[in-house]
Amino acid sequence: MSQGGQHVIVVGAGILGASIAYHLAWRGAGVTLLDRGPPAGEATGASFAWINASFRNPRPYYDLRMVGLQEYRRLEAELAGRLVVTWGGGLNWDLEEDEIAPLVRQHAGWGYDLRILGREEILALEPRLTAPPARAVFSACEGALDPVAATEALLAGAEALGAEIKIGCEVSDFLLNQGRVVGLQTAAGKLEADHVVLAAGVASAGLAAGLGFDLPLRSSPGLLVHSRPMPPLLGRVIESPGLHMKQDPDGRIVAGTSFGGGPVPNDPEAEGRRLIARIKSALSGSDGLEMERVTLGLRPIPADGRPAVGPLPGLTGLYLAVMHSGITLAPAIGRFAAMEILDGAEVELLAPFRPARFAAG
Ligand SMILES: Cc1cc2nc3c(=O)[nH]c(=O)nc-3n(C[C@H](O)[C@H](O)[C@H](O)COP(=O)(O)OP(=O)(O)OC[C@H]3O[C@@H](n4cnc5c(N)ncnc54)[C@H](O)[C@@H]3O)c2cc1C
Repeated sequence: MSQGGQHVIVVGAGILGASIAYHLAWRGAGVTLLDRGPPAGEATGASFAWINASFRNPRPYYDLRMVGLQEYRRLEAELAGRLVVTWGGGLNWDLEEDEIAPLVRQHAGWGYDLRILGREEILALEPRLTAPPARAVFSACEGALDPVAATEALLAGAEALGAEIKIGCEVSDFLLNQGRVVGLQTAAGKLEADHVVLAAGVASAGLAAGLGFDLPLRSSPGLLVHSRPMPPLLGRVIESPGLHMKQDPDGRIVAGTSFGGGPVPNDPEAEGRRLIARIKSALSGSDGLEMERVTLGLRPIPADGRPAVGPLPGLTGLYLAVMHSGITLAPAIGRFAAMEILDGAEVELLAPFRPARFAAG
């Protein structure tokens, strides 16, 4: 299992950096994880954290997401009790009428369990819904988690395997030697390593630009409201027009309006209160629901909407990992990145997602 004393520095303690650090440490590498702020302090902490593979994804991206789902089962066992996924499935009636049948047929052909349920079946699954739709698409194998708790579980797992975690340590530049990244310039001084992983979310583009690489990245804002803990009201991720919601294991209900991004609301608190009112009218038994906080995060989205993962063209010693759906993908990307960095392997599933596609125009 030991990796001959290789030392890897990971930049970013969001869920991707935490997962990569955990998997590298599990393989026996020496790992240092740096973050300028608290763990899960950016996109990860503001994420809805729905774990899914379905809906409008081309086959290679669907396949990668499926591995993400499967790898969560492994991680749950490895981190015994510290990583908790709610595997309730997803109920979706935020779809155009004419896209439902083709979507279900396509996913059935891929072996993904999507079913169309009628009102009675929907109510049997979610009896608290006050206005269940006439039909919804149910994806049985999906889940959700608390992204901050999951990141903390991965960091604790990495630390238990010997990783060093430095919080409050900003990275400003890379150390280069003959086309190889050999370390970092940080607030704590120069740090050298055999490999550097860049998992800095939306800040990755600016850092990669310092290496002459233009990573086209959209940072799409998303607002969520988090309630105070409630008794169990919801078992599944709900996607309905203008309201998606889930209940975390700690009882908090988390909700937003859209998965697609949009303008930053002028008054986030007012938007949060509006969402709380919508949840109350959508769920019986939620009269006592109170807003605890609102989060506003930036989704790190490479320009073509797909992950950017792997080396940068023309450069050794650096591994990039930037993507939306980083919650779904974190266990798969963590394991694959460790294999590629430590074994020099090229995981075929990652071939469509290499950063080099941007250099090729
Ligand atoms: C509203 C919203 C809803 C979402 N819903 C889902 C969903 O349902 N399912 C899903 O799979 N995904 C979802 N996502 C996307 C998902 O949350 C992200 O893809 C994922 O969290 C990205 O993780 P990350 O570790 O790459 O980035 P981040 O969590 O942003 O972490 C990057 C870290 O790098 C650190 N950093 C940056 N620059 C430096 C520097 N110079 N020096 C040191 N540290 C630095 C930051 O402090 C930060 O902690 C959602 C995102 C948002 C915002």
